[in-house]
Amino acid sequence: MLAVTEEDEEIISSVVAGKTPSYVLESNLGDCRRAAGIRREALRRMTGRALEGLPLDGFDYGSILRQCCELPVGYVQLPVGIAGPLLLDRRQYYVPMATTEGCLVASTNRGCKAIAESGGAASVVLRDGMTRAPVVRLPSVRRAAELVAFVEEPSNFETLAVVFNRSSRFARLQGIQCALAGRNLYMRFSCSTGDAMGMNMVSKGVQNVLDYLQGDFPDMDVMSISGNFCSDKKPAAVNWIEGRGKSVVCEATIKEEVVKKVLKTTVPALVELNMIKNLAGSAVAGALGGFNAHASNIVSAVFIATGQDPAQNVESSHCITMMEAVNDGKDLHVSVTMPSIEVGTVGGGTQLASQAACLDLLGVKGASLESPGSNARLLASIVAGAVLAGELSLMSAHAAGHLVRSHMKYNRSSKDVSKAA
Ligand code: ADP
Repeated sequence: MLAVTEEDEEIISSVVAGKTPSYVLESNLGDCRRAAGIRREALRRMTGRALEGLPLDGFDYGSILRQCCELPVGYVQLPVGIAGPLLLDRRQYYVPMATTEGCLVASTNRGCKAIAESGGAASVVLRDGMTRAPVVRLPSVRRAAELVAFVEEPSNFETLAVVFNRSSRFARLQGIQCALAGRNLYMRFSCSTGDAMGMNMVSKGVQNVLDYLQGDFPDMDVMSISGNFCSDKKPAAVNWIEGRGKSVVCEATIKEEVVKKVLKTTVPALVELNMIKNLAGSAVAGALGGFNAHASNIVSAVFIATGQDPAQNVESSHCITMMEAVNDGKDLHVSVTMPSIEVGTVGGGTQLASQAACLDLLGVKGASLESPGSNARLLASIVAGAVLAGELSLMSAHAAGHLVRSHMKYNRSSKDVSKAA
């Protein structure tokens, strides 16, 4: 039990009795650490569980207030490992990964080594736009189609862009994609959001546009600011095909001797396994964006370390891994194509001390003053580069395992053959 002052005792009893709602503690007390302690003690009395092992001290509860987490009673500790250097676009990065999965950091580290010893990886950010798709209902299909025509008319779009962009100096509307379901209209707004992941920003812009459209379409009924055509935190073909956040492709050519020495396998074994597992196997499974070995392992670990929204791992892990033999079949060309990496370096959890430290390690902490958006784009490239390393290493482990198994099979069968002979 924690040491409790008389004054706190009164508040704890009141919370336990249900007289004081736990969520008012921060604003009533003006002391976030004290509020968390009182809430925790009240919880202990109500449940009989002390949460031993979940630390209370050593965390700045003020930094999460009205931003990151409500009703705090402590914080979960996660180890952070470092994979690298990842040689990407001629620069070295040490990639922080928060995980409790043994081997994950070691494996990614091995992939980084293979990439570095082969001259490095290169990345391209093809698109950069966060999306939000409200759903509005019109009295009839005809009226809904009129609204589509209005939105798609170029001069109207220009006006809507001006209205949208008032939401932030970083928000720039790129397009509106319309889809109908009967008289319900889904408008997928896409916009650049500087270094922010951008959900708040794009939502504010969308609200501005909906308010404006109501003038010309008073019969438009706004059903929800999010109609799921966005599509946030759910597997959806629209993100896989159209992209969401940053669309990144990353490639490397791994030398034959590096495949042998570092990855302990061969180029033909990797190419064949990629075809059978990541392409055909995922097709058999009916995969949606899952044409990879374990992109989400790396995405989740880097997301948690750098203060991203881990729920966006769903679409941020969409990835197709390609492998082919090049240079007269000697070397391995490997690439990962990831159309919807949703990351930011400002806002959300990125400003918390631990997460900011990890962003700082990568040189992408906070807003880029010279070129807004470049920190977030670089972070997306690093995520893709780390995924490339992770794919290389795990696929090699599988390919090597396959080789080991086939050797064993070969040895056994040859014994059998000799016995039979
Ligand atoms: P999100 O839209 O990802 O939820 P927030 O709206 O919480 O993010 O955070 C973005 C905030 O950071 C905005 O208020 C914005 O004005 C500010 N900001 C400062 N510099 C930048 C930058 N370079 N890019 C984007 N936003 C920035």
